[in-house]
Amino acid sequence: MKKSEIAIIGAGIIGMTCALQLSKLSNINITLYGKAPRYSQHKTTAILETSFGMYKEITSLNESSRYVYKLDKFKIIDQLSNKNKILDFDSNEINLNSFAYNIKDNDLSKLLNKEIEISKNIKREEFFVKNIKLKLDEVMIETLENKKLYNLIIGADGRNSLSRDYANIDYEHKKYKENILVTTIDHINDHQSTSYEIHKNGSLLTSVPLSKKKSAIVYINDKNILENLIKENKLQDIFNLSLRDFLGEITINSDISQLPSEVIVVKKLAKNRTILVGESAHVIPPLGAQGLNLGIRDIKEIFSLLKENNAIEPGSKIILNKYNEHRWLDIYKRQKSVNILYNSMMGDNPKYQLLRNIGFLGLNKSKILRKILLNEGLVLNANSKK
Ligand SMILES: Cc1cc2nc3c(=O)[nH]c(=O)nc-3n(C[C@H](O)[C@H](O)[C@H](O)COP(=O)(O)OP(=O)(O)OC[C@H]3O[C@@H](n4cnc5c(N)ncnc54)[C@H](O)[C@@H]3O)c2cc1C
Repeated sequence: MKKSEIAIIGAGIIGMTCALQLSKLSNINITLYGKAPRYSQHKTTAILETSFGMYKEITSLNESSRYVYKLDKFKIIDQLSNKNKILDFDSNEINLNSFAYNIKDNDLSKLLNKEIEISKNIKREEFFVKNIKLKLDEVMIETLENKKLYNLIIGADGRNSLSRDYANIDYEHKKYKENILVTTIDHINDHQSTSYEIHKNGSLLTSVPLSKKKSAIVYINDKNILENLIKENKLQDIFNLSLRDFLGEITINSDISQLPSEVIVVKKLAKNRTILVGESAHVIPPLGAQGLNLGIRDIKEIFSLLKENNAIEPGSKIILNKYNEHRWLDIYKRQKSVNILYNSMMGDNPKYQLLRNIGFLGLNKSKILRKILLNEGLVLNANSKK
């Protein structure tokens, strides 16, 4: 049987993960376009238990690997009013050893790249894709070096996706007034594998475990406020004010990076022989370890569609429509819930704040509500079906 040619555009974490996962299928040839990425040295990703299985299969990673730091407990501290309201979650509640495994993006990229280099089923084109042309039964990809025809394109080219534009997929792009700041801190106390999320009116500060007395920081706040805090050298004071009670005295041990806080919602997930995965298909603010994990579920879906329908052309409308149908609700639900949560923290709309207060009261008392929240991913999507 003739193998179908599939191109994956974008060799970021999602593109590389997708290439390795699909390389297990014998009925397709995969070509991966783009250079190996270089992420900010502070950027880490908490990979949920359900997604980590894929990394155990396609790389040498496992729970005790030196690159991963466990996230066993999760504490949400609401500092909206004078009194702290604290919500505690423990992975034991849903019978897991850990909610997630935190890893530096650069470490994960290196591990993936190493596997791709030795894979016989993945062809590398380390060039930027310049142009895509839709033909009758195929798609042509052009780089500065060459032109090639494919049956299906998988767009893993991130938030400014070129493949999304060439496939003529509309999307909404919203930029929030906040920026996302990432850095790393040292602290006196051991974090005990706990992630802390400090909610204040207009800001969100999250610490995620690294080695025992180090944590990664994600701090979302108004761009101008962040600018001033940095200029006046007050960031460390802010971190101490919110986190010292839990982690002991804190020092920022490195420089910082900033990203815009934004949302991208596509109108379709697949069209014109193109399937979108990862941030080309969905961008959400970094709350509750959702982003990469949504992308992993995109990859799982493509994998099972191509495996179960191996007699059907990968770029056909049947496959594209199935992908769209099967992924739509999960992505829609995550985007909705993360955005409601985001607006309840960053905005001053009383409707959202009321929702938060009711949520906090209920969550402290109700076991059922806590389980729904854990399972449905408003905190951590630790028990997704896929
Ligand atoms: C601060 C922060 C913290 C986060 N924390 C978490 C977390 O704890 N857990 C979680 O699940 N998610 C988290 N996320 C989300 C997660 O980081 C992203 O979902 C994920 O990294 C997106 O990966 P990607 O491969 O889709 O996109 P990218 O990493 O942007 O990769 C896209 C790649 O495509 C390449 N490319 C673009 N155009 C072309 C072209 N024309 N030709 C060839 N190549 C091209 C780019 O160079 C790039 O390498 C976080 C996000 C942020 C901002």
